[in-house]
Amino acid sequence: MTDRLYAAIDLGGTRTRSAAAHEPPRFERRDEFETPDGSRAVIEAMASSVRRVVADVRAIAAIGVSAPGPLDHRRGVVHEAPNIPGFENIPLAAELSTDLGRPVYLDRDTVMAAIGEALYGAARGIRDFVYVTISTGIGGAIVADGRIVRGASGTAGEVGHWPVDPDGPRCGCGANGCIEAIASGSGIARAYGTGGADDVFEAARGGDERAAAVLRRASRALGDLAVGLVNVLNPALIVAGGGVAIGQPDFVFGAMRDAVRDRAFAVPGRAVRIVPAALGDDSGLVGALAMARERASGKEPLS
Ligand SMILES: [Zn+2]
Repeated sequence: MTDRLYAAIDLGGTRTRSAAAHEPPRFERRDEFETPDGSRAVIEAMASSVRRVVADVRAIAAIGVSAPGPLDHRRGVVHEAPNIPGFENIPLAAELSTDLGRPVYLDRDTVMAAIGEALYGAARGIRDFVYVTISTGIGGAIVADGRIVRGASGTAGEVGHWPVDPDGPRCGCGANGCIEAIASGSGIARAYGTGGADDVFEAARGGDERAAAVLRRASRALGDLAVGLVNVLNPALIVAGGGVAIGQPDFVFGAMRDAVRDRAFAVPGRAVRIVPAALGDDSGLVGALAMARERASGKEPLS
């Protein structure tokens, strides 16, 4: 337990949220703002948001920032944030730390969410699990034997670029047929030719065969992802969060559970449970707060 105050920021492509707490997972104060364009504007908006949440920033022991990757969590540099214009090789942690005069610790949004779920959510006490977000994009983080798997350049767990159909639509990464291009909210919407995935689910419920076909393809892709993760990693748990998983749980969890039951290698298939993120939208914020607290005391969660 601690009586020190920590802040967390969840940098999103359209909305950014910040919060403060003495002890996660309950936040005492919160703020939210529309993410501006340009790295300087984003960092200034983040600093203002923290000041709105905690008037006297000297009371904050450390700040955790959850951001889209790829990024270098040790140096606190965001390499690229495709959904935020003007964000390339930005030393976000150092700049925000200079603005606020407090220590800032950065990590990938899905890593922060996995830490939140591991310490306070659905994956408490579980040493082998995969966190998957199914939202505007698709991403993830892998925890193996109690440690975050980072990979050679820090991108391990980016399951959105799991290839499921070489003849499929072009993905933001430049390849064709990544699961993100097929089963993310934006991929589903684009395939149907509408602004949001909700329209497609609505149309399919109303009997629209073209909408149903888009969703069948997305469902198959989510199943491929779940079966692949189960067969390769043998996790005890797959935790799924993000707007599509929260908003369309029957679709997302049905697709993944049915595919694992019908198609996964039998032994790991029996070992896995596929569940929603217990912290909902807050997984990343909770993880960022816990990360700030741990790193400020010289520790590194799940490493
Ligand atoms: Zn891709």
